Amino acid sequence: MKRLLIDGQLVEAEKTFPSLNPATGEVLDQAPDATAAQAEAAVTAARRAFDTTNWSTDVPQRLRCLEQLDRVLNEHKEELRELTIAEVGAPRMLTHGPQLDEPVKLVRYYADLLREYPLTEDLGDIEIRGRRHHRWVEKEAGGVVAAIIPYNYPNQLALAKLAPALAAGCTVVLKGAPDTPLTTLALGELIAEHTDFPPGVVNVLTSSGADVGELLTKHPDIDMITFTGSTATGRRIMEAASATVKKVFLELGGKSAMIILDDADFQSASMFAAFTICSHAGQGCALTSRLLVPREHHDTIVEMVAAGLERVSYGDPADPKTFMGPLISARQRDKVDGMVQRAVAAGAKLVTGGKKVDPGFFYTPTLLSGVDPSSEIAQDEVFGPVLAVIPYDDEDDAVRIANDSVFGLSGAVQSRDQERAIAVARRIRTGTFSINGGNYFSQDVPFGGYKQSGVGRESGVPGLEEFLERKAFATVTP
Ligand code: NAD
Repeated sequence: MKRLLIDGQLVEAEKTFPSLNPATGEVLDQAPDATAAQAEAAVTAARRAFDTTNWSTDVPQRLRCLEQLDRVLNEHKEELRELTIAEVGAPRMLTHGPQLDEPVKLVRYYADLLREYPLTEDLGDIEIRGRRHHRWVEKEAGGVVAAIIPYNYPNQLALAKLAPALAAGCTVVLKGAPDTPLTTLALGELIAEHTDFPPGVVNVLTSSGADVGELLTKHPDIDMITFTGSTATGRRIMEAASATVKKVFLELGGKSAMIILDDADFQSASMFAAFTICSHAGQGCALTSRLLVPREHHDTIVEMVAAGLERVSYGDPADPKTFMGPLISARQRDKVDGMVQRAVAAGAKLVTGGKKVDPGFFYTPTLLSGVDPSSEIAQDEVFGPVLAVIPYDDEDDAVRIANDSVFGLSGAVQSRDQERAIAVARRIRTGTFSINGGNYFSQDVPFGGYKQSGVGRESGVPGLEEFLERKAFATVTP
């Protein structure tokens, strides 16, 4: 059984909980259910490593450890791939992209960035009453970080937090998601067994409930929280962190819109919309789950998208030809199905899909047409392979509907006129945007949300800066 990583030691579980294979519903393995005492021990170790060792100031040591981590992740990538497929239900083809191969690159990216990133900024001199004041800023580690992640892309989300936090000189307590503990524990084991990260610098916990996460967000020895998950949990974390005024960095939910403009290639735009919503069975925060179409072309586009969804291959995620795997749990599938049924009751038309497929937690690619933009299915995150088609009257109406959301994570636009598409994209209040299928997702591109989709940016240079404090210095010479 996999173990927790606390203060450099792999620690056995006092109690356990099962992790299921979502493609079969069967138990994959037991995972350690960390106790409050184990969580306390992890925080104490991270605090001690930050306060009493030279980890936060020794850049060459950090580079050496990050390079070891990069090497070991690449050497053990195939084991991680099989585990990610089995536990996350990620189709094999997705592990060659954002479920594994891309996240692994984050470690090298942040090691390279640390080598060239200016940790000192000279602000020059000013003169006050005849005396010269020289000023500069030094950027230093933010402190002890609690990193809390969701289930959907556990490798990406763990490494997008660990790599920049460690590069910055922070120490970390990483908490995996209750539905995908093994994938996160595997990272901890590789760190413990194959790298020289000093004890306490990286700690990895898993738990079946929210208690360990809550303990971390309230703990006075934690300086900063980096959280990815739902907006509802993000709100609770912000509240919990307020008592000790922690820096809080949040990557939250989304309800992104793809706008098909009236001059788009409807066939290719429809295929793109269909396959996008089925990526990891719709369990992606930035996926476009609302499809905004010109009212006069609504029926034509609906037919094309339905044909695309019916071509999506779903089934065994281990099969290299499978495009879509299962939802993570029976609970998640019931939630998705409930939302589809309520959408139909509210007047949307179920064009295709809407079926549970057993064994495992599969849900067929689903299309709802004629959706009212103010209804639940158009406003709330589904996190399943469910696309809601909303008709619009003109370009202004499309922009208004796209912005009519508490979220602001992502968006997409399709048009034969690139300039027109870019102009529309500029009017949407979101942190990322895809124009005619452009891919913004990469180690060097800042990712994050406007509005209730989050605070701060992950990846790229801003992803490192989230973990740095800035200290201003001044000297005076007569
Ligand atoms: P979730 O919010 O239920 O849980 C996320 C993590 O928070 C888990 O580890 C959970 O144990 C922990 N947690 C729950 N309650 C807590 C509390 N009170 N205090 C501290 N920790 C607590 O999310 P989920 O269902 O695992 O994941 C899906 C959500 O994640 C979706 O809303 C999705 O949009 C979002 N997400 C966002 C991004 C992004 O980058 N913006 C990326 C992936 C997923």
